[in-house]
Amino acid sequence: MRALSEEKEKICGRFDFPENAAYLIDFFFDDRQRDLILHAPDTFTEADYEPGFVRQCYRDGLVSYADYDRGIFQLSNFYNMFDVFVCAHQDRYNQLTRHEKGTLDTWYFDRYYDGLKGEVPTPDRILSLEDTLRFVDAHEETIYLNPCDCRSLTGDCGHSRSTCLSYRGGPNSFADRGISKTLTKEEAKEMIIAADREGLMHTVNPFGVCNCCSDCCYLFRSQKRRDSLGVWPATETIIRLNADKCVGCGKCARRCHFSVFTLNREIRKVSADVSTCVGCGICQTQCPSGALTLVPRSEKAVS
Ligand code: SF4
Ligand code: SF4
Ligand code: SF4
Repeated sequence: MRALSEEKEKICGRFDFPENAAYLIDFFFDDRQRDLILHAPDTFTEADYEPGFVRQCYRDGLVSYADYDRGIFQLSNFYNMFDVFVCAHQDRYNQLTRHEKGTLDTWYFDRYYDGLKGEVPTPDRILSLEDTLRFVDAHEETIYLNPCDCRSLTGDCGHSRSTCLSYRGGPNSFADRGISKTLTKEEAKEMIIAADREGLMHTVNPFGVCNCCSDCCYLFRSQKRRDSLGVWPATETIIRLNADKCVGCGKCARRCHFSVFTLNREIRKVSADVSTCVGCGICQTQCPSGALTLVPRSEKAVS
């Protein structure tokens, strides 16, 4: 018993596994993997272990390439492994309790958050549906469809998970680890349109396109904690409501993740407080009366 706890202590130290979740080490690693974490040399090749073992560890995120061309690997760490493992083994991960998943997600999110430096820490931008489709059209790289790691990590907000597009296909990418599937541009755009219909917001960066909710998404959770609305993730637009055109269907109020709209059932109109609007435009795409328009953030937003 004591030996096991010493082993777990060493694994937490060597693999940067969260100590408050050390009781889950046996869930993530079998005997051979624990042995690898404890005794792996700085670098190694597939030939140093049983056939197939290092390859499976690569797929699980436990090891990464140190030198792709020479087939040299190194031990990863739990921060870099976690989202790979969760996306590759969603059903297994979902065997954890809500509390266990919450503990891991909190640890992972804090690490992610602490790594955000400066006023604009990443090149992520919020785009309308139209601009996102144009963004896809403008890129010529291979498109990989990945599971949304934020929603996979947090568990279950009810939204679709196969919604992240990536242009990354090199060493240590989801694609190279065998988690992704390739899409044509047309398939990618169809997926984005479906995500918009579902009520997901579109964000892009040079490496791909995400279709985000606000409760799981690391970007939007970080925006809230940093209080960086309008600055990061970058956005150039804000919604404008033409109340005269509104027919009071309430769709925008149901779709907006930031409670911008309030529906007055008596007069069958919404009012808008745009101070929390991120300019995603998902209210506009489903407004039946053309009452909503995205305008530059500098312009007056409510008419
Ligand atoms: S940024 Fe959005 S879409 Fe991308 S992984 Fe996170 S929630 Fe999913
Ligand atoms: S979706 Fe359009 S018509 Fe419906 S309540 Fe909102 S603004 Fe009015
Ligand atoms: S009001 Fe703003 S934040 Fe809300 S859905 Fe519309 S564009 Fe997005």
